[in-house]
Amino acid sequence: MQIVWFRKDLRILDNPALTQACHEGPVTAVYFITPEQWQQHDVAPIQIDFIEKSLNQLSKSLADIGITFIVETVPKFADVPEALDAICRRVNATAVLANSEVEVDEISRDIKVQQYGINLRLYQGDCIINPGQVLTQQGTMFKVFTPFKINWLKQAMEMDLTPYGSPDKQSDKISPINIQIAMDKKDSSAWEASEAAALDHLSVFLDESVESYHLDRDFPAKSGTSMLSPYLALGLISAKQCMNAILQRFPDAFNNAQNGPATWVNELVWREFYRHIMVLNPDLGKGHNYNELGNRIQWQNNPNLFTAWCEGKTGYPLVDAAMQQLIQTGWMHNRLRMVCASFLTKHLLIDWRWGEVFFKQHLIDGDLASNNGGWQWAASTGCDAQPYFRIFNPIIQSQKFDPNGQFISIYNQALSHLSDKQIHLPNNPVVEHKLARLTALDIFSVLKKG
Ligand SMILES: Cc1cc2nc3c(=O)[nH]c(=O)nc-3n(C[C@H](O)[C@H](O)[C@H](O)COP(=O)(O)OP(=O)(O)OC[C@H]3O[C@@H](n4cnc5c(N)ncnc54)[C@H](O)[C@@H]3O)c2cc1C
Repeated sequence: MQIVWFRKDLRILDNPALTQACHEGPVTAVYFITPEQWQQHDVAPIQIDFIEKSLNQLSKSLADIGITFIVETVPKFADVPEALDAICRRVNATAVLANSEVEVDEISRDIKVQQYGINLRLYQGDCIINPGQVLTQQGTMFKVFTPFKINWLKQAMEMDLTPYGSPDKQSDKISPINIQIAMDKKDSSAWEASEAAALDHLSVFLDESVESYHLDRDFPAKSGTSMLSPYLALGLISAKQCMNAILQRFPDAFNNAQNGPATWVNELVWREFYRHIMVLNPDLGKGHNYNELGNRIQWQNNPNLFTAWCEGKTGYPLVDAAMQQLIQTGWMHNRLRMVCASFLTKHLLIDWRWGEVFFKQHLIDGDLASNNGGWQWAASTGCDAQPYFRIFNPIIQSQKFDPNGQFISIYNQALSHLSDKQIHLPNNPVVEHKLARLTALDIFSVLKKG
């Protein structure tokens, strides 16, 4: 008997650990709900609800192929080795197969499972290329995205990117179990939690939006992006499935052109970049600055300004509408994540780690590697980050990317009557842009090289 241990790979298709276990068969599936650990990791109530719904869907898919699904609750990762060992003994399993994860606590949990004497075999189902396999000629991780991407694309072109299909049926159909997570949850039903829904999303995006992705992706009022991030974060769809689907339709998508498909590929490679960095720099998962000069930044950390930002009451219409989008829907457009993160760190001089936690506590797609990468990019402390002297002007960002105030009006109807010119202007702002910019330039100058 083999155990397949599901983690952030809540899918049947393109699941290397599951496929391999089914070849070797018979198979029992296992999942651990770890409430205290998730609280420590700031998992958002909306993501917990999405996990619960996804698990119930996975339970049905496993039952269809005759695989028993055992879901147990243990407080923390530290409790997993013993619980997993007990299941192995109960079902007489000789091996546990799982897809590897990139986060530091998850990696050390897996090491502890192996040290406990469990035969844990790990597969790559999250990244397309294994972290540690895209390196400079000196054998080190790239410090800049573009050469990483060139090297990544070169390797990916040589690979077979065909996703694994449906795993072998293990026995007749059985009854699915019902899974409930006893934690604080927020309704996630705006996102249908199933593999089929993720594939539909991908298909519609490729049919309708990807060709203009490079033109539309920065405009939050347009549906210009795939909105696949919740599915990718929990593994209802894999990056390989996405990459394969785009190459099927646009065989030139790896050619680095200035068009929609190539730009979308670029974003998926950013996802890989941050994952590779996370594995090779595990301290990032513990709040360390990638650039150690970042330790010298004198954060002001004014709690009142932080509250104003969290509640969308900074007086800058685009920032406030974006924060409302996050609070109300559990998702935020990428351009707005950059604007809000820049505003918190550079205008309000609040430590990026505060923002990282707040985002994680609210995002349905909360993901340590991408969130940390995004925050450190905005704070100029990260790998290939925004230079310290680049400070987004929240008014210009608004004029450029929400020219008619269409997005702002969705989250602040009181402003919808304003003209295209007026709607972007601050109203009783918590800080004044020009002054905040000058202060930030001074404080962030500790990042100056040499
Ligand atoms: C401060 C900040 C915090 C972020 N936090 C997260 C997070 O917790 N979880 C998360 O999934 N993404 C995060 N991102 C990245 C990005 O904003 C989202 O992935 C994107 O908005 C999701 O929308 P989409 O699925 O429509 O993306 P698309 O534009 O359709 O891109 C497709 C996929 O590529 C990946 N991707 C796109 N942009 C990036 C990027 N800049 N970095 C890494 N991967 C990317 C995502 O998996 C995304 O689903 C963050 C970005 C910033 C600036």
